[in-house]
Amino acid sequence: MKLPPDARFSTICIHAGQTPDPGTGAIITPIFQTSTYVQEELGKHKGYEYARTQNPTRAALEANIAAIEGGAAAYAFASGMAAIDAITTMLEAGDHVVVTDNTYGGTFRLFDKVLTRYKLEFTYVDTSQPDLVERAMRPNTKMLFIETPTNPVLRLTDIAQTATIARRHNARLVVDNTFASPVLQRPIELGADLVTHSTTKYLNGHSDSVGGVVIATRDEDVAWLKFIQNAAGAILSPFDSWLVLRGTKTLVVRMAQHNANGMALAQFLSTHPKVTQVIYPGLPNHPQHELAKTQMRGFGGMVSFDVGTFEAARDVCNRVKLMSLAESLGGVETLISHPASMTHASVPPERRQAIGLTDSLVRISAGIEDPSDLIDDLKQALA
Ligand code: PLP
Repeated sequence: MKLPPDARFSTICIHAGQTPDPGTGAIITPIFQTSTYVQEELGKHKGYEYARTQNPTRAALEANIAAIEGGAAAYAFASGMAAIDAITTMLEAGDHVVVTDNTYGGTFRLFDKVLTRYKLEFTYVDTSQPDLVERAMRPNTKMLFIETPTNPVLRLTDIAQTATIARRHNARLVVDNTFASPVLQRPIELGADLVTHSTTKYLNGHSDSVGGVVIATRDEDVAWLKFIQNAAGAILSPFDSWLVLRGTKTLVVRMAQHNANGMALAQFLSTHPKVTQVIYPGLPNHPQHELAKTQMRGFGGMVSFDVGTFEAARDVCNRVKLMSLAESLGGVETLISHPASMTHASVPPERRQAIGLTDSLVRISAGIEDPSDLIDDLKQALA
């Protein structure tokens, strides 16, 4: 198998970074479950010395994801948070970062509770408004960290416009692309310097692995990430690397169904008398529907909706039968959650209020089941 140089996206997802095993012809990259590699003689080895530093299964996944996102290289970490943490090691004490205000709660916790102790400064702004981003930039701003669409209020940031601001101020633009997946959104094509994912979500797609990845474009960032992955050691395991590599092969077909189911649920919820608001970038009433149409190729599987009161939200979450009440997203099975008390419990109530994350908001990660079964489940849960 040789990947043609002009291979299209779904072909890249299936084949990039992988060659049949030279020893056996196995079409699937094996799980190299080893801690070390035997050297032929002192100073003579096959490029592999110790498994924190190099692992062929992880390397295959990293090459695969670098190709999928269109970056120069990728590095896989033990979780999405470990990947974000690795990115922040590019900063130095005294540096300032501008961050999307309703970024994932765990990202906020890392920045606010850990990294401020190392004299890094963070300003949280509504990055959907470029003038607010511009105003937040300071002489010591070295990074713009954006999430689009955001979790769970699905607000979009214009990546190309934000990249222009970042370039003007000599700052790196980092995009957390977890919610969209590279099928729907390719930030590097729009000017991002670094892209990160929680591979736990759509890239793996089967709710059976926790991991993260960083995709870099600049040579200096590639070198630093390779260094820090080994120096700090938060590597993705061989088995998890293998699982995610299997996941990316079906990413394109899975995302098509996630898109279809997300839209079906959003449309159903929009007509339901007990639902006061539906947030889905594919609905014409979404404040950034026009941007979603140009920046994304499909609107994804994440749908948030408001049912007016905390009690009503709790009842919906407790009454669903086919959907599972659980944190996380991006798997083939549909999950429902209450962000204020689950994924975003670490975000202070006043910050939740400011970003529109109400106690009556329910979030669905639409899986790839038959959409009629999902709608029937919601109908009975809302009845
Ligand atoms: N980024 C986003 C947008 C997320 O939703 C999450 C987790 O939910 C993370 C990062 C962190 O990923 P992980 O849970 O794999 O550490």
